[in-house]
Amino acid sequence: MKSFNEETVLSVHHWNDTLFSFKTTRDAGFRFRNGEFTMVGLEVEGRPLLRAYSMASANHEETLEFFSIKVPDGPLTSKLQHLKEGQSVLVGKKPTGTLVTDNLLPGKTLYLLGTGTGLAPFLSLIKDPALYDSFETIVLVHGVRYIKDLAYQDYITNELVKDEYLGEMVRGQLIYYPTVTREPSLHNGRITALMESGKLFEDIGLPQIDKQDDRAILCGGSAMLEDTRTFLEARGFVEGTRNNLGSFLIEKAFVEK
Ligand code: FAD
Ligand code: NAP
Repeated sequence: MKSFNEETVLSVHHWNDTLFSFKTTRDAGFRFRNGEFTMVGLEVEGRPLLRAYSMASANHEETLEFFSIKVPDGPLTSKLQHLKEGQSVLVGKKPTGTLVTDNLLPGKTLYLLGTGTGLAPFLSLIKDPALYDSFETIVLVHGVRYIKDLAYQDYITNELVKDEYLGEMVRGQLIYYPTVTREPSLHNGRITALMESGKLFEDIGLPQIDKQDDRAILCGGSAMLEDTRTFLEARGFVEGTRNNLGSFLIEKAFVEK
């Protein structure tokens, strides 16, 4: 039996020259926990070429959504970026990953700290009604180089807040904080610098992050993950895994080669 389903592309959206998203059909048997990833790809020269992708859709949605980088000479994304409606994509049948709230100790405020396409698993999580039951406040911080990289900004600020089912929870409990590092914007600076200086907490009107009441989920490049881990561990936060609940969770948004 094949380890992946063949899904049909329903739509493709290009955010800019380096980022795009696509929606596909979803096999009725494909179940996942919000925050997980699976293998996604194409058949290339008669063989499957697959890469890890976080689901950007929530598990209660009928279709699947993925948020992708375009690596110009990337084996998969140099082809995947040309996807068209109606085309087939391969979606692995075994989702997995550590960014699931089951791995976290109970807390009051949940920080979702993502850079670049590290936003993807958080798009799934912020559409999960259980998240709003488990935490009083959810702070979604998206760090990018340029304003044009702030994919989903309009969706989060203008659409999700009006969602028939989730809107009230989102309006009352979700704080969205986009930050840009390489040109002036509403918020500027790396996530780590904004936390170290305390500016992030001042801007959103919350106390400095604290291991007692706060939880964090991190998704981004290796350097961001290591620097943020150092910041959190210095404040007594402990990494959670499948077997040990913790006060923060971590997952690479990509592997540097
Ligand atoms: P690769 O040969 O896979 O990558 C080439 C190089 O491009 C890498 O060495 C790295 O320097 C850079 N790169 C790759 N992916 C990214 C990225 N996402 N952001 C910035 N630089 C990158 N990618 C997504 O676009 N969306 C996701 O939701 C996603 N989820 C992932 C989840 C996990 C757990 C892991 C490990 C990776 C994830 N990735 C995601 C990365 C993805 O698996 C591929 O690396 C990406 O699709 C590029 O594939 P490629 O074959 O074109 O190039
Ligand atoms: P990225 O390089 O990881 O940058 C995303 C955000 O993370 C930026 O704001 C960056 O700030 C920040 N960051 C980097 N290291 C950090 C750290 N140690 N602690 C905290 N924050 C940190 O991801 P990306 O922009 O998605 O680019 C990834 C890949 O795509 C790279 O290989 C790049 O060459 C390629 N690419 C990207 C673009 C683009 O426009 N985004 C264009 C062409 C190619 P800084 O700006 O301060 O580094």
